[in-house]
Order: sequence, then C-alpha cells, then structure tokens
Amino acid sequence: MNIVLTVPATTRDNSAFMAVEKMNCVQAIESRFPGLIEKVRAVILDSENALEGHDGGSESFLWEHTMHVTSIAYRLAQEEGLDPHIPIVAALFHDIGKFTGGRYHRDEIIEEEESAQIAERLLPEFGMKKGELRKVLSGLRALYNEKIRKNPVAAILHDADFLSKFGALGVASFFTKSTLRRRPLRASVFGYLSKELTYAACLPLNMHTAAGCKLAAKKATDSLKFFRALLTELREAHIADLRIRNIRIPHPNYRNRSLEIRYVLPPACPECGGRWDMAWGTEKDVKCTKLNIEWNCRQCAERLETSFCLPEIA
Ligand SMILES: [Zn+2]
Repeated sequence: MNIVLTVPATTRDNSAFMAVEKMNCVQAIESRFPGLIEKVRAVILDSENALEGHDGGSESFLWEHTMHVTSIAYRLAQEEGLDPHIPIVAALFHDIGKFTGGRYHRDEIIEEEESAQIAERLLPEFGMKKGELRKVLSGLRALYNEKIRKNPVAAILHDADFLSKFGALGVASFFTKSTLRRRPLRASVFGYLSKELTYAACLPLNMHTAAGCKLAAKKATDSLKFFRALLTELREAHIADLRIRNIRIPHPNYRNRSLEIRYVLPPACPECGGRWDMAWGTEKDVKCTKLNIEWNCRQCAERLETSFCLPEIA
C-alpha cells in the first residue's frame, strides 16, 4: 500500500504520527516531496558514471550508501523525537556533491558545500518551503565544522553516516571498498582491520545524539562478532593467522579521556615464532591525530607496523 500524506509545513513534530502510520523513510519523503528520491538517485547515478568515465548502468555505490544513511537518519530522528523530514531530506543530499564535475572531492568542506548548493537548487522545485530549506542547508553545512554541536540536523547526519560503517551492511561496505582497491582478504584484514575494530570500539564516544549512542553500541558489537568469526575461519583456512588484542591509551587531545585501541596481529613472529615487542605513539597529521604502532620480533629482524587516524570523539 502506498501511503500518500501531506503534512502541513507548520507541523513541528510529526514523529509520533508517522510512527503510528508505520511510515518508512521512503514513504515519508514521497508523501511530502513526490519524485524527489528518483531525482536524487538520477543525479547521484550520473555523477558516479561521469567520475568513472563510463555508463555503470543503474547500479551505484553512492546511492546505496545514501539510502542506508537516510534510513538510519530516519530511525535516529524518530528516537530523538524530532520531525524526521528535515534530517532525512538532508541525508538524501549529504553526499550528492561528492563527485560533481566528474572528480572526487577529497576535501569534506568543499564536498558539503557542493551538496548544499545542489540541494538549494533542487528542493524548491519539489515544493520545499524556504524555512525548511534553510534548515536542510544549515544542517549540511554544519556537518564538518564546530556548529555541529548546536545543529540537531547535522548531529543526526553525522551519527547516521558513522553508523553506516558498522553492523552487517557496514562490514559489507568495508569489503566492497577493499575489492574496489584490489585487496584480497588477508591484505584488507591485516592492513585495515585494526582501524575498523578501533573505530567500532570507540563508536559510541563519537555520537552526537543519545539514539546514535545506543545504536552504536549494538552495531559495534555486531561488527566485532562478525570479524572474530572471520578471523577464526581465515586461520582455519590457512589464509591468515591474526588475533584481536586491545590496549587502552590516554586520549592525546583530551585530558582524562581514554581510547580503546583494538588491533590485529599474528600471535607470534611469522618468520621465527618469536614474541613481539610492541611500541606505539601518536602524531599530529594534517586532518587528524595519527596512531602509529609497531611490533618488533625479539629474536629476528621481523617488524610489522600499522598506522591510522584516531577516531574523533564527540
Ligand atoms: Zn622473528
């Protein structure tokens, strides 16, 4: 059944009503802005095809990510008791500017500004009123600056975007990215799983909303459970022998706060079976504080290392 519903623009809080109606995020957007989802899908598809320089048909990585984030934003907004319309429309646009002009914007601020400009151009065509449009735009623009702390739309977008990296679908995205970069399982697990597991462990600390924090704990546990099982099977298959270990370090940027670091490591030196000596340190990088860990074999010259940006905390 297709529920078509028009909620007056003055309605401040429709969340209870929409929960009663059991609307999902697609129905919620369609009821207010018919055709918007299809339009956004087409724009994202075109930009991804332009970036890759060929017609990828109707499939799009960025569209799948967009729908995932939009659905999480819907859930968070409802749990926070906020009218979900603004957060879910903002979520629909949060990455739309990623590939504008056929190139990948590595700068998040440029990316969000591109996204906001596309939203500003498109949304009035679908009948969004000025006051609502302003909220969508300020939410998008606050996503990567300090205003996020005061902007409830940006807080939901931020949490939904991070949450999309965990849980079953988050794990699927992790391996999709690895595949796109031609990394087999052993390489992705040894090279990138420490970061993934650390981000999962710290995910609740990085949330700006209470609903996000609750969901983060569940998704982090789901990811960890899966990766533990995966490492067991990789070991049994003689592809890689890696164990998950953890240490707690004082946060380099916040006094009295600590971070749980999880890393993967062969249980003994693969060359000689010797034990590891571990050393770690942090350093300021352009965009983040980096954690560097190295392991030196006590018996031979074998040395392993990993390095990644420490997760943000809210
Ligand atoms: Zn050794």
